[in-house]
Amino acid sequence: MDSKHLYIYTIGCQMNTYDSSQIAKFLGSTGYAENNDLDSADMIVVNTCSIRQKAEQKAFSFLGRLSQLKRNKPQLIVAIGGCVAQQEGKKILSRMPFVDLVFGTHAISRLPALVRRIEKNRTRIVDIGQQERISTGDYVHATKKNADAAGVSTFVTIMRGCDNYCTYCVVPFVRGRESSRDPESIVEEIKAGVKKGIREVTLLGQNVNSYGKKEGLCSFSQLLERVNTIAGLKRIRFTTSHPKDLSDELVDAFKNIDKLCNHIHLPVQSGSTQILKRMNRKYSRDDYLEKVAGLRDKCPDIAITSDIIVGFPGETDADFEDTISLIRRVEYDGLFAFMYSDRPNAPAARFDDKIPEAVKSERLQVVLGMQKEVTMKKHLKRVGTVQEVLVEGMSKKNIDANEAASIPAGTQGIQWTGRTADNKIVNFDDCSADGEKFELKNGILAKILIKRAFPHSLWGYPVSIKTLKREGERSYAA
Ligand code: SF4
Repeated sequence: MDSKHLYIYTIGCQMNTYDSSQIAKFLGSTGYAENNDLDSADMIVVNTCSIRQKAEQKAFSFLGRLSQLKRNKPQLIVAIGGCVAQQEGKKILSRMPFVDLVFGTHAISRLPALVRRIEKNRTRIVDIGQQERISTGDYVHATKKNADAAGVSTFVTIMRGCDNYCTYCVVPFVRGRESSRDPESIVEEIKAGVKKGIREVTLLGQNVNSYGKKEGLCSFSQLLERVNTIAGLKRIRFTTSHPKDLSDELVDAFKNIDKLCNHIHLPVQSGSTQILKRMNRKYSRDDYLEKVAGLRDKCPDIAITSDIIVGFPGETDADFEDTISLIRRVEYDGLFAFMYSDRPNAPAARFDDKIPEAVKSERLQVVLGMQKEVTMKKHLKRVGTVQEVLVEGMSKKNIDANEAASIPAGTQGIQWTGRTADNKIVNFDDCSADGEKFELKNGILAKILIKRAFPHSLWGYPVSIKTLKREGERSYAA
């Protein structure tokens, strides 16, 4: 029998990207094969995010477009999953009569049974039940034949949910209480990926520092050590680490675990101790700066990125100044900055002293402008250095017209792309500066001599080990 077509539209964070890959795997067992053609789809899954109002609106606007499709093709199954589904439940069925299935963040492993019921009885279903603990069946076991792994880099969820209850956040309500996967199944899944060509893994959790604590499993650093032993795997990344729980053991891991990339995402959210308190972050500005100093002490070349929320209720000009001065002091490698928005169930939605939209927007521009300068400064420092890049594939689309114009003429043949260990995007030619052609392929670590810096990426030429030896790698250093 021909397989049925599955179209998945994913909004939101890396967790959702990973969940979508799990959705595809679970539905694969009921005869659905994922493709990118919306019009030929027999089933459409919208995997939603409710972390910010904008993401929620994006989901509903996409769903709105599906009503016509469903009218033309009544047998089409329309499913909505993820955080908005968890939050809104059956309200979605009354609001959107063309939706057949609403499934929550803990229902992914139940999808095959739910879809079979819909196919058989054409019934409409809501499943937003949550379990306290992750069970082994919640993730497709890596040894099953549908454990695919395209590409070079993959995400693997190691825990789900969160117990921290930051006052602006919906995660504890929509993803449930914190629960960790057992290390064996994580290691097995990564090993299966490596067999399919995966060379880099990003371990995902809302707060990886709490990994295994509740269940009495190993610590997160011990998990990293186990993953580090997987033959064929070249790089390990993780996200996210809550600053209050950043342990000395994890800081040491950056020094001692050789495949662990020198990059940490350490969300600060605000530089004002008073606002951090209202956010229930459980650390002060000074605590945070101390953690950053500790990281840089042990691992001087570590890249640090962060999240900032501007315009949290009650944020005064002085609070915002504290944020600005913290950003200046830390000099992040990258920042994700957002304007605060009320989220359903999150306590901050009930806080007084809401900040006007115009002020929030102005503050956001200040933060983004500052960060742009710092990022560019850091990128410019790389020009003339040799960087080790994990080759992720060929790409022309990463280079915009302005960037392309500044790349030396005659070297814009085949462009490749990849990342440094500290997560900088590098685009590069397949020939060295003196015309030596390189046999590049996905998944190898290439040495790239950086010649140009752009706001979001670097550009350079590959250099051979031979050249490096001849010229002395140090001679490339800025
Ligand atoms: S740590 Fe805070 S911001 Fe992060 S997921 Fe948990 S509640 Fe949300």
